[in-house]
Amino acid sequence: MPVEPPVASPRSLAEAYTLLADAVHRPVAGGTDLLVQITGELGDPPERVLDIWHLDELRGIRMQQNALVLGTLTTYAEIRRSPLIAEFLPAFAEAAATIGAAQIQNRGTIGGNAMNASPAGDMLPLLLACDAQLVAGKRDGERWIPVREFWPRYRQTALEPMELLLRISIPLPSGRQLRYRKVGTRRAQAISKVVMALAWQADGKGTWHDVHLALGSVAPTPIRVPATETVLEGAPPTEATADRAASTLAGELSPIDDVRSSADYRRAVAARVLHRLIRDEGGW
Ligand SMILES: Cc1cc2nc3c(=O)[nH]c(=O)nc-3n(C[C@H](O)[C@H](O)[C@H](O)COP(=O)(O)OP(=O)(O)OC[C@H]3O[C@@H](n4cnc5c(N)ncnc54)[C@H](O)[C@@H]3O)c2cc1C
Repeated sequence: MPVEPPVASPRSLAEAYTLLADAVHRPVAGGTDLLVQITGELGDPPERVLDIWHLDELRGIRMQQNALVLGTLTTYAEIRRSPLIAEFLPAFAEAAATIGAAQIQNRGTIGGNAMNASPAGDMLPLLLACDAQLVAGKRDGERWIPVREFWPRYRQTALEPMELLLRISIPLPSGRQLRYRKVGTRRAQAISKVVMALAWQADGKGTWHDVHLALGSVAPTPIRVPATETVLEGAPPTEATADRAASTLAGELSPIDDVRSSADYRRAVAARVLHRLIRDEGGW
């Protein structure tokens, strides 16, 4: 039988920081990933748990200057229901709808997804494609971390043990397009085999600029693919562009074989998904 670690439930952020200063307490948000560790099925169980679920400072979705700011405890259900997300970042609601079932969507948080640092985390390519900034806090103050620096290695984040993830700031697209695609064993309630987010700006002639293409489940961390982005940069969404981009992507990826998929399958599917996405946008 797994041994349940002691749980501390701070009533304020300041109290949470004090408890975290021992570098032994592990934060728990919705617990949907951490509980699997406590049962010993995934990684080492934590020695002590810091329950942050009741810290209201970490909740809410709001507009701040030119960004939407999501508190780390924002759940998938909240993302699905938010009028601000529906208006400015509908791809996030689409992604949230593919995660787990209702129970997971009610408890699982965007911050937990980022902090769990799984290469298959479904929200993470979206954060990468949008150039999100993540805000960490500890007793001495806060710091902003660009999303490109947030997952330096497999299953690791840029946070220090004494820090909490507080919120995620996502620049408003203002004219930029953003698309999300997930391939799993099923359309929803399945861990991804390939997850993709594509952002771009189209000019008056329909040519794409400032293209950001991010993928999950194809590398040890969520990644951007610069060679494929270069092919799409300054190009219209034609069949010739789609062919070039798909073959460049297949060459640029070096996924692993694991229980969910072979590397060849992931490479082929990622290329296919990108090709279709460009076709949908080009309307051919
Ligand atoms: C049945 C099932 C289905 C799932 N399906 C999907 C899926 O389809 N797609 C997908 O991406 N994921 C899926 N997951 C994984 C999980 O639900 C998500 O990763 C979720 O977002 C985790 O959020 P959480 O709040 O539950 O994290 P928790 O389990 O509470 O925490 C996860 C990790 O992050 C750390 N952490 C959490 N919050 C903070 C914080 N604010 N500051 C610092 N550290 C923090 C914890 O210490 C822990 O290491 C599934 C899980 C289950 C059990």
